[in-house]
Amino acid sequence: MTETKNWQAQTRMVHEGQDRSPFGETAEALYLTSGYVYDSAEQAEARFKEEEDGYIYSRFGNPTVRAFEERMMALEGAQDARATATGMAAVTACMMSQLQAGDHIVAARALFGSCRYVVETLMPRFGVACTLVDGRDLDAWKTALRPETKVLFLETPSNPVLEIIDIQAVANIAHNHGARLVVDNVFATPVLQKPMALGADITIYSATKHIDGQGRCLGGIILGDSDYIKNQLANFIRQTGPSLAPFNAWVMLKALETLHLRVERHCDNAEKLTDMLVAHDKIERVYYPGHHSHPQFELAQKQMTRGSNLIAFDVKGGKANAFVLANSLEIAHISNNLGDAKTLITHPATTTHAKLSDAAKAELAIQDGTLRLSVGLEDAADLLDDFERALAKLA
Ligand SMILES: *Cc1c(COP(=O)(O)O)cnc(C)c1O
Repeated sequence: MTETKNWQAQTRMVHEGQDRSPFGETAEALYLTSGYVYDSAEQAEARFKEEEDGYIYSRFGNPTVRAFEERMMALEGAQDARATATGMAAVTACMMSQLQAGDHIVAARALFGSCRYVVETLMPRFGVACTLVDGRDLDAWKTALRPETKVLFLETPSNPVLEIIDIQAVANIAHNHGARLVVDNVFATPVLQKPMALGADITIYSATKHIDGQGRCLGGIILGDSDYIKNQLANFIRQTGPSLAPFNAWVMLKALETLHLRVERHCDNAEKLTDMLVAHDKIERVYYPGHHSHPQFELAQKQMTRGSNLIAFDVKGGKANAFVLANSLEIAHISNNLGDAKTLITHPATTTHAKLSDAAKAELAIQDGTLRLSVGLEDAADLLDDFERALAKLA
């Protein structure tokens, strides 16, 4: 492990967590091994008794995966972390590792679809109740609390119309009640928003998104204090196996070296595209947390350094025009993924949020003409041209 020095984040993202083998390789080694051998039976015994540090089996820990965890801990300012196979494995493991029958979750209703399934459908099957609230309404969080509430869960900015929730205020509500706040920080990225510095107890990422950043590997990570990670999460992962593959951890480590550069460029492009969309007469409404027209612009400025690369907007003319626009774009591809180098556009009402009732869609401001855009790393002028040309085709 690299010693913790007073380096800036970008420096640490290039060096943190590396533990060189005797070969002295420059890059991080890829330890593609499921098991480990011991020098003696006594050593094996000591490892299992936890009297000696060292690896036992890659479901419990692996040096490449640990390097990724340590680099993420440095970025987040967390005491400890465990990586998982996907972002959803992280969300599920986080909930399952700390809750039991009789407990209660309060969650913001504007959640990534599968996260909403975990808290609204899966956890209640195991006796953990859940109340969904409008996360922007601080009184709604307080009213939903019960004596048995153990976890508050939110995502900000949220999917798909980028609502902003006040992390610090919800953390205070959680702590006054003796509960923990868990934040899914995917949309903001660890570069633009630090939930733990704002009071969150646990931060979760789908590393599949901006952390990989090039749409290659699935991955996830849970970051928190050493007590939670060591005493609750580590054993849950060890016994149930949602562990990250060493190869994917190695890809993520490589990707963290350029995360800051990529996120800044994503934001530059998103700001330019937002300015163009806001001014366009075929667009009804634009949601971008980094633009002053966002209804919670001030709160976004307070807790995020920039607006990230997700933009939602409503085109005039509903679904028909939304489809014409998506089909007419040449650079932007139609895909529900996000945080990729490639610009991706999706129609939430018929894809990511198709399973929601009309009432639930209305609560989330998802209209027939709503599109969600994940702005990529292409040349900004090319992107603007692509959108100008496609928008000109709308009736
Ligand atoms: C993608 C995503 C997830 C799930 O991550 P996977 O790696 O796809 O499992 C969770 N939360 C948010 C906000 C996401 O965007």
